[in-house]
Amino acid sequence: MPAKGVLVAVTADVVVAGGGVIGTAIAWRAAAAGLGVVLVDPARDEAASLVAAGMLAPVSEALFGEGALLRVNLLAVARFGSFAAELEEATGHRVGVRREGTLAVAYDPGDYAALMRLTAFRRSAGLDAEELDSRACRKLESFLTPDVHGGVLFAGDWSVDNRRYAAALQQAAAAAGVRVVRDRVTEVLTGDGQARGVRLADGGDIASAQVVVAAGCWSGAVAGLPAELRAAVRPVKGQLLRLRHPDGMPPVITHTIRATVRGADVYLVPRADGEVIVGATQEERGPDRTVTAGAVHDLLHDAMSVLPVTSELILAETCAGLRPGTPDNGPVVGEAGAGGLLMATGHYRNGILMSPVTADAIVACLTGQRPAAEWEPFTPGRFAGQPAGGEGTR
Ligand SMILES: Cc1cc2nc3c(=O)[nH]c(=O)nc-3n(C[C@H](O)[C@H](O)[C@H](O)COP(=O)(O)OP(=O)(O)OC[C@H]3O[C@@H](n4cnc5c(N)ncnc54)[C@H](O)[C@@H]3O)c2cc1C
Repeated sequence: MPAKGVLVAVTADVVVAGGGVIGTAIAWRAAAAGLGVVLVDPARDEAASLVAAGMLAPVSEALFGEGALLRVNLLAVARFGSFAAELEEATGHRVGVRREGTLAVAYDPGDYAALMRLTAFRRSAGLDAEELDSRACRKLESFLTPDVHGGVLFAGDWSVDNRRYAAALQQAAAAAGVRVVRDRVTEVLTGDGQARGVRLADGGDIASAQVVVAAGCWSGAVAGLPAELRAAVRPVKGQLLRLRHPDGMPPVITHTIRATVRGADVYLVPRADGEVIVGATQEERGPDRTVTAGAVHDLLHDAMSVLPVTSELILAETCAGLRPGTPDNGPVVGEAGAGGLLMATGHYRNGILMSPVTADAIVACLTGQRPAAEWEPFTPGRFAGQPAGGEGTR
């Protein structure tokens, strides 16, 4: 990897700006398809990809009015298993895919009524949902408080250890020949309606007829993209805790648990190595990544309300990340104005889940094929005044 500040005289078939899970998955698959790929990222340690909980949760993430997003998320979970298997084969490292499903629990009757409304909607969309009374919930997760009013098992949800997954993607990309430049893309260069490459913060251009902007919530800071697309991506802050079992303590949960506690949502995601992720806040605070005492308190309070044993786990880490949000909560994937200029961002709450299918869609664009039809509502063109498939068109 060239040191920061060194002029880079490089050409490539494709430049990818951003090395979170989206950019790295794209870079790996593009290199595997035979393209010469340069990935540019100044430092990956601020990436949302390393903060995320790793839920692969099309079912428990399905919300009213997001039918098109649900279709992409279902495509994504169906693809995740084969993609992860190929990644594990390429690297020799397990990425911690778990398939136990999500147990959604409600703390009081009001929470239960809200869960039942969502469950009816999810069933109407053809999703599996098994209603459970309090006793049946505790049969699945014995440490749940008997105060839990009831719950629903959403068997179609999975999870992955997102840090292992991100590390494996980097390793696979390097092994496939992706060159990494540790710098920031300030501008995409275009001429005659065609991508020409990128300009770097610390000097030099990289010439390339294809450029993919995959810089997460920072994508809008890249000059040369159409103004409407730059304005469409914003950071949505999420604070999250990582807990660890004390030595010798058996795992306290096996399913992902999503709880509503007097109207507040909290989730607990188990890892094979004994970690339990507790998340997450959703805050409109611009690029702020600080961790606040109030958020730590609220997350622990709500987690302990449904799973009192949480208090015995070790508080190993507190962190905050920035989800790439968009006005319609949908990703922005595809051609972005000039020929060969592509965007892959805006994955908001589901970027880990959508990373394999995003890589598939972008590699399809790079190699002259059509992305899967599920992507039609999510083209950049919907923000640039061009028609997109939209809700209810399929
Ligand atoms: C608290 C929290 C919990 C979450 N939980 C889940 C979950 O359970 N499941 C799920 O699927 N998703 C989850 N997400 C969402 C998920 O993390 C994101 O959607 C996903 O990580 C976005 O990936 P990305 O690669 O687009 O962006 P990022 O991971 O943010 O990576 C962007 C990269 O771009 C680089 N960059 C920035 N500017 C430039 C530039 N100008 N030039 C070059 N590089 C640049 C940055 O250094 C960074 O490495 C969660 C997010 C948060 C914050």
